[in-house]
Amino acid sequence: MIVYKSTEGKSKIMSEVDSSKIPNSLEEHWMPFTSNKDFKENPRLITEAKGVYLKNHKGQTQIDASSGLFCNPLGHGRKEITHAVTKQLEQLDYVQPFQQGFGGSFELARRIAKHTPGNLNRIFYTICGSTAVETAIKIVIAYHKAKGQGQRFRFVGRERAYHGMNIGATSVGGMINNVKTFASVLMPGVVHMRHTHLPEHKFVKGQPTTGSEMAEDLERICTNFGSENIAACIVEPVAGSTGTLVPPKGYLKRLREICDKHGIILIFDEVITGWGRMGSAFASQEFGVTPDVITMAKATTNGVVPMGVVAVKEEIYDAVMDAAPKGAVELFHGYTYSGIPIAVAAALAVQNIFEKEEIFKRSKEMSPYFLEGLFSLKDLKAVDNIRGYGMMGGIDIKLKEKPGRAGFECFKSCYEAGVNFKATGDCLIIAPQFICEKKHIDEIIDKLRTGITNYLKK
Ligand code: PLP
Repeated sequence: MIVYKSTEGKSKIMSEVDSSKIPNSLEEHWMPFTSNKDFKENPRLITEAKGVYLKNHKGQTQIDASSGLFCNPLGHGRKEITHAVTKQLEQLDYVQPFQQGFGGSFELARRIAKHTPGNLNRIFYTICGSTAVETAIKIVIAYHKAKGQGQRFRFVGRERAYHGMNIGATSVGGMINNVKTFASVLMPGVVHMRHTHLPEHKFVKGQPTTGSEMAEDLERICTNFGSENIAACIVEPVAGSTGTLVPPKGYLKRLREICDKHGIILIFDEVITGWGRMGSAFASQEFGVTPDVITMAKATTNGVVPMGVVAVKEEIYDAVMDAAPKGAVELFHGYTYSGIPIAVAAALAVQNIFEKEEIFKRSKEMSPYFLEGLFSLKDLKAVDNIRGYGMMGGIDIKLKEKPGRAGFECFKSCYEAGVNFKATGDCLIIAPQFICEKKHIDEIIDKLRTGITNYLKK
């Protein structure tokens, strides 16, 4: 029998669980983006992961319907990745990445650059998505300075955007709960465009045909704030964390045109959409718009070792290189864990699997089946809206009392029904692994139906 101390300090008895699978105390660990009080009264602990399945501490098998946090599209427990990381640890566990290096990181940069669009062929390694966005912000500033345009300091983000949680990424982000507590420490000069989550987009599968005019917000910002002061515009091509907001047709192209007109750098944050989630290597190729900078993370290592990547146009790299005297450090930026050997080893193994198993093609081919299943949940009483593109979709649950409550209760009901995913506010975000077969998609949809139906009964 296991005794947990609840948040009120009272003891709680959890007799049905396997004691070997759970810790002695839940009190000390302050969990991220979690209702700690709720969790510690009724924890959800995952003990095993294999392929498309997870096992929790109660012994229940669940299907992973969000690829972890969009990280594991190749499935859990991939031997090729485990072996590559183990081998790397045995041969060379760490190299300091400043003023020295090792071959693997150069080889990985070459492999990544094979997939990036246009000439986004210069690759900077970071530790995660947030540090990729922070790095992109700094590279853009360094680029403008190198070009003699140091007055460009403003960044344009978008409402409902998620770019990560350090100060730079929080500042350009647009999810209000992530921002409001920290308003006093955010980056100055950030302006936000409106989001594209329009009422007429209810139950639209794929790209909405209306709403591209929302891109004109960028032109208005140029007029109101002076385009000569704007360094970059950053968007997720498909906003992931607010529930798969698919860009209206023509919207991204229009952003590109406005950026070109005013000399503004366009950053696509592809931390979720990168590496096949939309059916092409990057959303950029899927929607036919090439930005100047792409950030990526998550699927780069199939989630097993933290790693972020910034890919930039050759002109940006060249300008920063040319502005520095020979022998000087050109960009005063980097991390202790920038492109460490085990992250590189995992990412190289992932690249091999992408190629060998034609993973992006697989994602594209499975997408229509997945979206059809997702939209079949439209008849459920609790469902307010469904969106989707590629292998990602959002299901909005009807508001209950206050924002977030319905989504959280529904998430818990689905967890009990054996389907595991991420919920943000009242939206369930579904992003299956690319190795899913049709039977797995069916299982995800069936269990979602059960979980959402049971939620209404409670
Ligand atoms: N950018 C986007 C689009 C994301 O979805 C995320 C995380 O979900 C991040 C950045 C931050 O990534 P990380 O949590 O690895 O710092």
